[in-house]
This record gives sequence, C-alpha cells and structure tokens, in this order.
Amino acid sequence: MAAEIINGKDLAQELRMSLKDEVTELKQKGINPHLTVVLVGDNPASRSYVKGKEKAAAEVGISSSVIELPATTSEEELLDQIHKLNEDSVVNGILVQLPLPKHISEQKVIDTINPNKDVDGFHPINVGKMMLGEDTFLPCTPYGIITMLKSRNINIEGKHAVIIGRSNIVGKPVGQLLLNENATVTYCHSRTANLRELTSKADILIVAIGRPNAITADDIKEGAVVIDVGINRLETGKLTGDVDFNSAVEKASYITPVPKGVGPMTIAMLLKNTVKAAKGLENR
Ligand code: NDP
Repeated sequence: MAAEIINGKDLAQELRMSLKDEVTELKQKGINPHLTVVLVGDNPASRSYVKGKEKAAAEVGISSSVIELPATTSEEELLDQIHKLNEDSVVNGILVQLPLPKHISEQKVIDTINPNKDVDGFHPINVGKMMLGEDTFLPCTPYGIITMLKSRNINIEGKHAVIIGRSNIVGKPVGQLLLNENATVTYCHSRTANLRELTSKADILIVAIGRPNAITADDIKEGAVVIDVGINRLETGKLTGDVDFNSAVEKASYITPVPKGVGPMTIAMLLKNTVKAAKGLENR
C-alpha cells in the first residue's frame, strides 16, 4: 500500500492560521512581533528564501524588515549591525540569512546575536539548551520535522531513528530532538561505511544530504516513516528531494514530498519562534 503523504504546505498553512490569532491577541496587548532579516551579498537562492519569509510573516501579521548589505561588507561592519539590532527594542527576532560571503565567519556572526532574539536557534546557548531539553528556540527545520511527525501522531518513543546528514542546522539537531522524544538515534554521513545496512533498519528515516534521489526504496524498511529534507534544483529547473519519491512511496508508511514538504514547515517554525521571542516581552 502506498505511503500516506505528509503535506508540509497544508500543515504550515494551518500553523500560520493559528499563529495569526496569537499575533492578533499580542497586538491587543500592545506587543507587535517584529522580525529583522539580514541579507549579505547577492545570492539569488538566499534572496528568494528571504522573500518567502517576508511574505509568510506578513500573512500572520508579523512585521518584518530586511537589511540588505553588499557582498563586500566586512565582518566588523556586519557584527556592528547585529549589535544595533540586539539593542533595538522594536526587533524581537534576528535572522542572518546563510550562507555568508567567505570572508565572514558565520559562527562569529551567530555568536553575536542576542540568544533571546535568535529565532533560527543557532546560537550556542540555544543549541546547549536544546541538548539539555530546556525550553528554547529550536532550529526551524528540525522543529518543523518533529511537528510534522506529531501532526500525524507518529510514535517516536522507542523507535529507531536514522539520520543521514550531520550538519549543524539539520542533521545534528534533528537527531537531538528525536533523542529528546525518546527515540534511539543513529547518525550517518559521508564516511558511514554501511549506509544501507543502517537505513534499512530505520523506523524513522530522516534524509538531509543534498543529493537528488540518493535514497531509494532499496534503502528503506517496509513501513518506515521517511522525511526528505533535501532541496535540489535539477537542470530542468525542477525541485527534487534526496529521496526517490516514486519508489519510496510504495514502501514507506508515511513520506514527505519535495516540494510541499519540510520546506514550508521551516518557515512556519521561524514565525512560531518570532512570536515566542515577542511573547518573552510580556514578562518584562
Ligand atoms: P550539508 O551539505 O551541510 O550536509 C550534508 C550532509 O550529508 C553532511 O553531513 C554529509 O556528510 C552528508 N552526506 C553527503 N553525501 C553523503 C552520502 N553520499 N552518504 C551519506 N551522507 C552524505 O547540508 P544541509 O544539512 O545544510 O542540507 C541538506 C539538504 O537539506 C540540502 O539539500 C539542503 O538544501 C536541504 N535543506 C532543506 C531545508 C528545508 O527547509 N527543507 C533547510 C536546510 C537544508 P559529511 O558531514 O561527512 O560531509
């Protein structure tokens, strides 16, 4: 039987609707959630991601601003800009669109963002809190993945989750969040010797490699839950994931498509984090 498809686009839309109500309530209390995105350089993909974020923010009533800086911006200038945003009481959430030009240290930039405004959840303090299982801003893509699993009441506890990919923004944190939910977690990466042996044991398989159709039905267990994080643009211009959807859909129990899968969820979770950041002000 073909897998059930978890449509991230529809789920993200539902989340935005409920966030919109929350934002309306906050505004009645005089709190106006505001997200500032910093875009350095002229990467067309980054520009398009930023546009998507602005549009989604507007839809839920979150105001946003984009600070565009030239690719020649020095690290010091960018850090100065972030210090200003840290001090600016109008700004609840700060997001620096990655990747940054090579001459700027991404880690230094992330380290400079006020952890209370770090809506991407990349600051070491927030990463540490996530590891400890404390309340914090969770990184948007992993947070979106967990939300997708929970939306279908997929049982995580006691399941074997296999993650392919160990990046700081997807692979590592999604494994940690699954561990926090009591899964047994295996991480795989480019040096993993026996990839198929491991993936074919996964109850939940998270694929975040960045290679079109790298994982096929032969790599997965009958009835597995397959989450495809990959976003690859083919020469034809078409977007595709890391999983060969057509074969995997016949073997999995649940699967996420690309597009309309994890991508829209990532943006919805960013909005959720921005609302969370704004709500922090209620207690001050
Ligand atoms: P990275 O390039 O940072 O990491 C890729 C990971 O895949 C690395 O850990 C790498 O291993 C591993 N890998 C590469 N080749 C293989 C292989 N043949 N077998 C096993 N593992 C392999 O990518 P990201 O984590 O940033 O992104 C992964 C994908 O997800 C990309 O397509 C990206 O576009 C997409 N993405 C989607 C998002 C969304 O919202 N849907 C958000 C962020 C990313 P090693 O560490 O050894 O090099």
